[in-house]
Amino acid sequence: MSQPIRVAVSGAGGRMGRETVNAVLEAGPDLALVGAADPAFAGNSISEVLGYDCPVMFEKDLGRVLESAQADVAVIFTTPDAAMDDARATMKAGAVPVIGTTGITPENLQEIKGLSAKHGVGAIIAPNFAIGAVLMMKLASQVAKYMPAVEIIELHHDKKLDAPSGTAIKTAEMIAASRDVSPSTGGAVPARGGDFHGVRIHSVRLPGLVAHQEVIFGGLGQTLRIRHDSYDRKSFMPGVLMAVRKASGLKDVIYGLENIL
Ligand code: NAP
Repeated sequence: MSQPIRVAVSGAGGRMGRETVNAVLEAGPDLALVGAADPAFAGNSISEVLGYDCPVMFEKDLGRVLESAQADVAVIFTTPDAAMDDARATMKAGAVPVIGTTGITPENLQEIKGLSAKHGVGAIIAPNFAIGAVLMMKLASQVAKYMPAVEIIELHHDKKLDAPSGTAIKTAEMIAASRDVSPSTGGAVPARGGDFHGVRIHSVRLPGLVAHQEVIFGGLGQTLRIRHDSYDRKSFMPGVLMAVRKASGLKDVIYGLENIL
């Protein structure tokens, strides 16, 4: 059998990081967890902190993990300000980052492409790993050709740091790329949400929510709604594992899970 893909996880003590550690440990023999980073847990083992049967020790940051662990792929679910430092460290070490942290800007993406050319390694950036959400985005971009008047309502838990969500931004970009006309979206009244690429996005942040989005199209005497709900962070894990397997040895930069489905 070929060698397993060596996986490090950054933000491993956070909500998404914990799920990712568990998913990698349970994935089977083709994946091996070799490192975990999260400043609050540095010096403790995965089994002490998360209760999974795994001796891997937490490091303060991904740079330290990569000094010793020789990872092939690093999954990044840190806070937005730490994610680019993680991406730089990963690519410098010759590994491929799989970036799940949202809030990656067009400038960040340009930098990642430059790092890819410089270091000869690829990267995957996925604002949403839930396969149902990716299908929602693809469907929305198809419908927008025929029903160009559209708004997005995205709803997330109240601990989410960024707004609008990366999924809403990506959906608006895909809609903008597929429709011929940009309909007027009205004045800049706060109650009407924010205008992004001519698509109004409304962000709701409440306890009890996980990650939800509705794309509403309006036409003459009719509406069409496409809705996706993640009720549990496990919903992202098949997409994360798909990206990890695709990332091993990758030389290109891929933005969006829909490009590897
Ligand atoms: P979270 O629970 O706050 O987890 C982030 C973790 O990163 C925290 O434990 C944080 O520690 C840690 N951290 C901070 N700086 C770090 C560093 N330099 N190195 C390593 N770890 C560091 O947040 P979350 O809910 O897991 O979400 C993480 C990101 O994933 C967000 O951007 C979120 O929007 C995104 N997300 C993406 C998807 C997707 O499908 N792509 C799905 C859900 C969420 P402290 O708490 O001590 O600061």
